[in-house]
Amino acid sequence: MRKHIVAGNWKMNKTFSEADELLNDIMEGLEKVELNRDTLIVVCPPMPYLEMATDYANDSYFTVGAQDVSANNNGAFTGEVSAEMLQSIELDYCIVGHSERRAYHHETNSIVAAKINQLLAHNIRPIMCCGELLDEREAGKQFEVVQRQIEEGLFHLDVEAIKNVVIAYEPVWAIGTGRTATPEQAQEMHHHIRTLLTAKYGASVADEISLLYGGSCKPSNAKELFAQPDVDGGLIGGASLVADDFIKIAQSF
Ligand code: PEP
Repeated sequence: MRKHIVAGNWKMNKTFSEADELLNDIMEGLEKVELNRDTLIVVCPPMPYLEMATDYANDSYFTVGAQDVSANNNGAFTGEVSAEMLQSIELDYCIVGHSERRAYHHETNSIVAAKINQLLAHNIRPIMCCGELLDEREAGKQFEVVQRQIEEGLFHLDVEAIKNVVIAYEPVWAIGTGRTATPEQAQEMHHHIRTLLTAKYGASVADEISLLYGGSCKPSNAKELFAQPDVDGGLIGGASLVADDFIKIAQSF
């Protein structure tokens, strides 16, 4: 049975002391609530706070992920952080291919594929983001765009490797805009992704892969989204910066 996952992407937010406070609030908040036993919570703070987050995670019910990783091995790549470094602080997850990185850092599907290879080689599970732009949806190309991202980003992996990947469908027009995909739009795309996975890897493997929805997901809409048969959780941006909201979303299964 695939996992329910709620992952918080803090993006480039919070000072050290604010991050400390938010981690503490998440830890304390999680102690007070009863979560569905299958729900995994992943907190993805900025790089400088990863180690502090793993310290909190050791005493709490969440695990920690990074927001990005280098496509390269260790060496002369100023400013970058390698998968080996993330592994050395015992991270479990890492987001890759977020639309902000694709847009502002020109990340192509092949760069995303290389990052995924680095992560898997270091036993870190990638959360690979995919999703169409507004004009692509308006042109009816959303399925084609997402299919290319999935095929070029992931389909070089063998059956054992793909089982360690989480996919987040994040329509770009819904990210940070307050405009959420309808539960039907989310389900339709998640079903499309599951169908692609089934055709490539077989139904039992496709059935094990968690597919998350991301894009203005909040406590008021999480339940309806997570009730869809192929929506296994969410990748949460803005709402993950408020402990109460993040925890309410985690309780929405
Ligand atoms: C994200 O950036 O991954 C995201 C889903 O953002 P938001 O929830 O703020 O739309």
